[in-house]
Amino acid sequence: MKTKRDYYEVLGVERSAGEDEIKKAFRKLAFKFHPDRNKDDGAEDKFKEINEAYEVLSDAEKRANYDRFGHSSGQAFGQGGFEGFGPFGGLGDIFETFFGGAAGATRRGPQRGTDLRYDLTLDFEEAVFGCDKELELPRVEVCSACKGSRSEPGTQPAKCTSCNGTGEIRRVQQSIFGQFVNVTPCSRCGGEGRIIVTPCTTCRGTGKERKVRRIVVSIPAGVDDESQIRLTGEGEAGGRGGPHGNLHVVLHVREHKLFKRQGDDIIYELPVNFAQAALGDEMSVPTVDGEVNLRLPAGSQTGSIFTLRGKGVPHLRQTGRGDHHVIARVVTPESLTEEQKKMFHELSKTLGRAVLPKEEKSLFDKIREVFTTN
Ligand SMILES: [Zn+2]
Ligand SMILES: [Zn+2]
Repeated sequence: MKTKRDYYEVLGVERSAGEDEIKKAFRKLAFKFHPDRNKDDGAEDKFKEINEAYEVLSDAEKRANYDRFGHSSGQAFGQGGFEGFGPFGGLGDIFETFFGGAAGATRRGPQRGTDLRYDLTLDFEEAVFGCDKELELPRVEVCSACKGSRSEPGTQPAKCTSCNGTGEIRRVQQSIFGQFVNVTPCSRCGGEGRIIVTPCTTCRGTGKERKVRRIVVSIPAGVDDESQIRLTGEGEAGGRGGPHGNLHVVLHVREHKLFKRQGDDIIYELPVNFAQAALGDEMSVPTVDGEVNLRLPAGSQTGSIFTLRGKGVPHLRQTGRGDHHVIARVVTPESLTEEQKKMFHELSKTLGRAVLPKEEKSLFDKIREVFTTN
């Protein structure tokens, strides 16, 4: 089932946004993601999503319905109100009528609710170590007043007189092959066998209510950008007592100031000065576990790689962790004091012409190796 994001979130506006604000947000996004202009993967889908959101939020009536009933409100009032087609009318019923109808019409049974998508942005460390996040999720729930029955509390639906409560209309037909029974869903009651006489005033007879639900999601350690977490039954309420849809939480991870992530390995670029590179030094390097001591050997070069095993990202839902790679980068000073200049002059007399170190692998090969081990 296709998942849907909250329309307000799609346009990036508050729920209280005015018409102008919505129009402005739409124009900006439509301009950015227009398929003629934006050839990125997914730009077209995004463009469609933006259009869909705008179509609903720019129309006062559709917006009011959406605010109350969420994504499933799309068809709720378009087909003659609450008696015939419920919120889940539409294509499914057409198929049922065409393909299911011939084999014997069935009463319209419970239907699963719409799946929802929630985009959640995490800090780098939150993705590495996992965290609990509270989400505020606007979604459709079963009406609290009528408990989804669609009738005003205290009233009862009436048996449909067209189908005598069976939800089916049977017609005996004659053909050249003989007599057969044609069964179709009752159009008066929509195949339900009963008619709501007094619709629930809280939900206007839809059996649903739009609410903001708070749920806590446990993010496991080791998730990455674009990871998805599925929460069964946290989507919108189903129709006719059907189960809730699912919630898909799509994760986005913020960049870190110091670290780059490569699968479950972390890469850190360590600035070292000439003296440290030449003579070696005891250095303190940042990792996701905090500062760790690293012995920089004498003669370190830009591109020398030191690997701290098991200091990377925990493997998702497994034991063990990736590595933390420290790549040295020798930094040339941009300004020197008079005294330093003098010392460098002295030093330069003894150094002579620079010669590349004898290494089995070039700098590029080494860095490429780190970046492609995953
Ligand atoms: Zn109700
Ligand atoms: Zn009927």
